[in-house]
Amino acid sequence: MLNKKSVDDINVKGKKVLVRCDFNVPLKDGQITDENRLVAALPTIKKLIADGGKVILCSHLGKPKGEPKPELSLAPVAVRLSELLGQEVKFAPDAEVVGPNAKAAVAEMKDGDVILLENTRYRIEETKNGEAFSKDLASLCDIFVNDAFGTAHRAHCSNVGVTEYVDTAAVGYLMQKEIDFLGNAVNNPERPFVAILGGAKVADKLNVIANLLEKCDTLIIGGGMAYTFLKAKGYEVGTSLVDDEKVAYCKEMMDKAEKLGKKLLLPVDTTIAASFPNPIDAEIEVSVVAADAIPADMMGLDIGTKTAGMFADAVKSAKTVVWNGPMGVFENPILAKGTIAVAKSLAETDATTIIGGGDSAAAVNQLGFGDKMSHISTGGGASLEFLEGKDLPGVVAANDK
Ligand code: ATP
Repeated sequence: MLNKKSVDDINVKGKKVLVRCDFNVPLKDGQITDENRLVAALPTIKKLIADGGKVILCSHLGKPKGEPKPELSLAPVAVRLSELLGQEVKFAPDAEVVGPNAKAAVAEMKDGDVILLENTRYRIEETKNGEAFSKDLASLCDIFVNDAFGTAHRAHCSNVGVTEYVDTAAVGYLMQKEIDFLGNAVNNPERPFVAILGGAKVADKLNVIANLLEKCDTLIIGGGMAYTFLKAKGYEVGTSLVDDEKVAYCKEMMDKAEKLGKKLLLPVDTTIAASFPNPIDAEIEVSVVAADAIPADMMGLDIGTKTAGMFADAVKSAKTVVWNGPMGVFENPILAKGTIAVAKSLAETDATTIIGGGDSAAAVNQLGFGDKMSHISTGGGASLEFLEGKDLPGVVAANDK
């Protein structure tokens, strides 16, 4: 269990509480296209309202790089949050985030009121963890609560710097839940523990592979990163995505698995095509071949049917499953079969199933399996760094219990 002060350990009645949330949601034409992160933030906000706090919300959105960008304003989030909470979330539209609108709004707050500040990354200091903005944020509140798991792997003003200038820095329910699920899975899993890694490149997940190999019983590798492993086995991989610089590393990992007595499952067959689909969802002709029979002019774009069955069997025998990264180019329906098969096997098992954010979370939600998973992380980058075994600065900065 996370040993940090939480919203259950603080008295917020009549106090101004600054809550760092992760409202970094995808927007299209000013509309929020996926509101999972807003919904995930509600339990902490509702708790603080019920306890009579004056709730001041803040978050970043996208990468405005230190200047106001109207298309990255948090205004649409305030509107949708008001609907989700059933009470007004007043928006403070200051270009400098902590400006006259925010200060006036805070001064007028009654217990249980909620306001939302403008995008914290409108300020250049935010991503540099600068002192002036950290102090500005702290000046608005009596207590700070960090519930932004998605940003916890970064040390910025609004999640780390601010904690130096407040007396109390606690974590919210979402942060607690994320760390408890991921922490239990990795450090205290009910076994067998199966970890599934996919996605594009080996290089992006070097430390995750090494760390998970130590912790899990079976490590499954699919997606684009599998072909570097297949090449390391001496197979022809055609024009598939390969990171030549990491072939030796993949060999090392295969040796390590053997030494540790861990199962490392790689594709035994693969779905191939003449080239990468263009546009990505174009109708393309594919075939399935054995993993050691990829023609030199063909490209592997998804796991094959036998592999999907083998991975699903491994999931069936597991008590804990952690999954990060798609099994193929899932954006194309013809190449989404492997990812769907793995998602389905997770949806059907009684094991604890944890989806590590990013593309795999999007895939699981799009397929309608979201409510079948034990936990879907709201932070792709943060969950990956956690799975690497790194401390997350946003968590470290909160007060210990
Ligand atoms: P995040 O880092 O956001 O959590 P992720 O870990 O889920 O994302 P990425 O490493 O970003 O995944 O890779 C996902 C991308 O990998 C997808 O766009 C998918 O199309 C691509 N991909 C999967 N398999 C292949 C393949 N065989 N060849 C080329 N690209 C692939």
